[in-house]
Amino acid sequence: MSTQPVGNGRHRVVVIGSGFGGLFGTKHLKRADVEVTLISKSTTHLFQPLLYQVATGILSVGEIAPATRLVLRKQKNARVLLGEVTDIDLEQRAVTSVLLGETTVTPYDSLIVATGAQQSYFGNDQFATFAPGMKTIDDALELRGRILGSFEQAEVARTQEERDRLLTFVVVGAGPTGVELAGQIAELSDRTLEGTFHNIDPRDARVILVEGAGAVLGPMGPKLGSKAQRRLESMGVEIQLNALVTDVDAHGVTVKDQDGTTRRIESSCKVWSAGVQASPLGKMLAERSDGTEVDRAGRVVVEPDLTIKGHPNVFVVGDLMSVPGVPGQAQGAIQGATYAAKQIKAEIAGKQNPADRRPFKYFNKGSMATISRFSAVCQVGKLEFGGFIAWLAWLALHLYYLVGYRSRIITIIQWFVTFLGRSRGQMAATEQWIFARLALEAVYGDSEEGEEIVRGAAGRRPPGPAPGVSPADPTGNGIAAADKPGGNRKVG
Ligand SMILES: Cc1cc2nc3c(=O)[nH]c(=O)nc-3n(C[C@H](O)[C@H](O)[C@H](O)COP(=O)(O)OP(=O)(O)OC[C@H]3O[C@@H](n4cnc5c(N)ncnc54)[C@H](O)[C@@H]3O)c2cc1C
Repeated sequence: MSTQPVGNGRHRVVVIGSGFGGLFGTKHLKRADVEVTLISKSTTHLFQPLLYQVATGILSVGEIAPATRLVLRKQKNARVLLGEVTDIDLEQRAVTSVLLGETTVTPYDSLIVATGAQQSYFGNDQFATFAPGMKTIDDALELRGRILGSFEQAEVARTQEERDRLLTFVVVGAGPTGVELAGQIAELSDRTLEGTFHNIDPRDARVILVEGAGAVLGPMGPKLGSKAQRRLESMGVEIQLNALVTDVDAHGVTVKDQDGTTRRIESSCKVWSAGVQASPLGKMLAERSDGTEVDRAGRVVVEPDLTIKGHPNVFVVGDLMSVPGVPGQAQGAIQGATYAAKQIKAEIAGKQNPADRRPFKYFNKGSMATISRFSAVCQVGKLEFGGFIAWLAWLALHLYYLVGYRSRIITIIQWFVTFLGRSRGQMAATEQWIFARLALEAVYGDSEEGEEIVRGAAGRRPPGPAPGVSPADPTGNGIAAADKPGGNRKVG
């Protein structure tokens, strides 16, 4: 199949997602003779690796999530469209996105899908009510509210039993996110909050890291795993291995140990960092292509050139792709997106046919996790090290990949305040941050009525076709009307 320019003559690339894959793919096309439309359901490029620092009051949202529109301001061949992609028509080559009931159909010649992954509760989605994950800005702010709110409630609790429950923090999953979060909650209670309450001593807080497998940081190997475990334990974090969380409710978690016995941990504040599930667009793409499959986590088993079967113009990159040996990390997304952009550029320049593409090759630059201030573990090839040097390497790398000079400078200042002093610059928390997710879920429910309330609050008009657009052919391009309430608009 060839990818011929249509419309005004320029090749149209649609990129879905503004994470590492989406942003780096778009930026790599900066000098190409293409029109790029980046569609994302979030307004920002989120640097997920530092979310836990937002959750624990070190950084503000702005430092780790610049507006994508501003990041791409100078890229004249790129435009940004806010909306959740609900449909990809591989035959008509069009992407349907929805923003508060307004449907937009964007035609493409090439497509890069980088919608990442979300939290997985392994079929127990009801756990999310009591144990939020940490994937989005909202998650991090909700967690900050829940963590700080627990200390506040403990201060006014009437019984010791209640105080103990409020001062017990359970982090489920001892991967990098769980380790980083547990370490930071421990530092928050021991250093930052120490001496700031009258009725409680925040240092009495218990931080429990529960892991179903037999090791901390399993994928990083036993040496670094034990190093991280020892460091966490020296900070007072209780580590429970081979312990499966089988239930979560408002007041605690139920844990099943290796010997089959179950027990309860009473805890008000729980965090889920135990698994990931790919974006549902992966399954949709696989079902619509000619035989592409998804793996157990819903990731698309892509061809060697990161496309789906029968559609060499549709690339799937980042956490949504399943490629042996490529971890769900920022580097996988950046390298995959850069590769896809290169193929598109080469084909437009007439230098290559899809059939001649060299397979994608992943270059493993290593992985790292920070445990506390001045301590991290780091793996680069066969080299494994931990401690202060690893922590410095972690600092440098994260600063390097943070988008924007302003973000970097402010982040350095916040790190100085936190790591050298005892304070933290971002300790605000509001009731809305804690309850908004559940309140929105309650309002939306399954009913159109709930959606109407939210849409009305946002100043949207009632559903119906947009003025000047024929519902029969909203795109003017022969593409069928999307089966969604709200008006339809054509882009591109
Ligand atoms: C807490 C945490 C810590 C991490 N720490 C590290 C680390 O230290 N080092 C490391 O290398 N990696 C780390 N990772 C992993 C890394 O962040 C991911 O591998 C990387 O973000 C994947 O990039 P992506 O572009 O595939 O997806 P994402 O960055 O998740 O971006 C997905 C984008 O798609 C958008 N989107 C999703 N669905 C739709 C839709 N239907 N319509 C429109 N837009 C949509 C989202 O809004 C988002 O903009 C961490 C991840 C998390 C959650």
